[in-house]
Amino acid sequence: MNLQELQEIASTCVLCSLHEGRIKPVFAKGNPEAKIMICGMVPADDENRSGIPFVGRAGKLLDQILEDTDLTLNDVYITNLVKCYLAAGKPLEQGWVDACLPYLMIQIETIRPRVIITLGKDSSINLLGMNNKTSMGSIRGKVFDCVDEIKIVPTYHPSYILRNGGKSSKPYQIVIRDFQLATQMTVDYGDIPF
Ligand code: SF4
Repeated sequence: MNLQELQEIASTCVLCSLHEGRIKPVFAKGNPEAKIMICGMVPADDENRSGIPFVGRAGKLLDQILEDTDLTLNDVYITNLVKCYLAAGKPLEQGWVDACLPYLMIQIETIRPRVIITLGKDSSINLLGMNNKTSMGSIRGKVFDCVDEIKIVPTYHPSYILRNGGKSSKPYQIVIRDFQLATQMTVDYGDIPF
């Protein structure tokens, strides 16, 4: 199954109750051949209306993070842990995550990025198989193994940065460092002349 076929299946998916709030399916944006995958949590209002991930305030901040780490949309593939809209402030239920996770796993197996940057606790602990008591502070900025030599670098979600001072805040600088760390995972050292 290719990504287009997977996206079409997800667009009419009724595997969990989140489909009831879906206006437009929100699958991914960016380059399916990118070495860096970015995985957020769940689409919000702006994404639900546009059908494109990370287009609201958090998305604008993610654009700024990419710019400040010398990345473009062509360098990354951006998706979410859960594909259908969840109203702001509502906690993500594990049943929704479990129902939707196979879509993300097929995206990972198809794209085979070098590294996945997980934004926020939900995407981080679910891809790392950790329990809900895990704190972001204990895992962010570290490099973990995923499948097939793919690495995972957890960091804060842009929404968290917005709640904690925005671009001039300490969390923003931390996320920049985490993105730079993840970018290092994509370097082909064989290409560097010594
Ligand atoms: S959130 Fe995922 S599992 Fe639930 S209906 Fe949407 S695509 Fe299907």
